[in-house]
Amino acid sequence: MITYTCIPVGLLQSNSYLLREEATGALALVDCGFFNRPVADAIREQGGDLRYLLLTHGHFDHIQGAADCKAAYPTAQVAVSVADAAYLRGEIDAVPGRRSRYKIAMEPDWLLREGDEIPLGESALRVIETPGHTLGGVCFFAAQERLLLTGDTLFFEEVGRHDLTGGDWPTLQASLARLIAIEGDAVVLPGHGQASSLAHERAHNPYL
Ligand SMILES: [Zn+2]
Repeated sequence: MITYTCIPVGLLQSNSYLLREEATGALALVDCGFFNRPVADAIREQGGDLRYLLLTHGHFDHIQGAADCKAAYPTAQVAVSVADAAYLRGEIDAVPGRRSRYKIAMEPDWLLREGDEIPLGESALRVIETPGHTLGGVCFFAAQERLLLTGDTLFFEEVGRHDLTGGDWPTLQASLARLIAIEGDAVVLPGHGQASSLAHERAHNPYL
């Protein structure tokens, strides 16, 4: 059984989610805009067994703390999609025109692809490729717990921008359609703002 803690970080209040598989204490951090005191404290308070840093996409406000997180927890696997690994490697600008300030250069441990299963203790997360906000955006779905981590693809009554590098509206629409097609309901945990549910978004999101 996976439980979660949401920790908004930085000026853009990017949500870091600390996932904990309760039977084993295995932890996964989803996105890391900053590896700041609240994030570090939460990991330590929940036992410190950080197995993964899972990145929904390559924008700076979601990855800037990745290197610090890896330095603090060297055995944690840093996972990002094949297409967005270039952000992590510093090969493309995380923010257009602000390359030097936000340059991050590290090699991911796991290049994620559609359908990958990420084991977390007695549970698992499935990778769903959802390009459109960036070329390589992904969502993570804990099917057993019905938790859907949507990054900047789907928000509470809102959807992600498609006008940044690698963004594309028809592609984003197709990705959103895939999320909405997930059978039944799930808690939606977005990269910014409040949590929602698939049922709420199906009924109230004007972009779907
Ligand atoms: Zn983004």
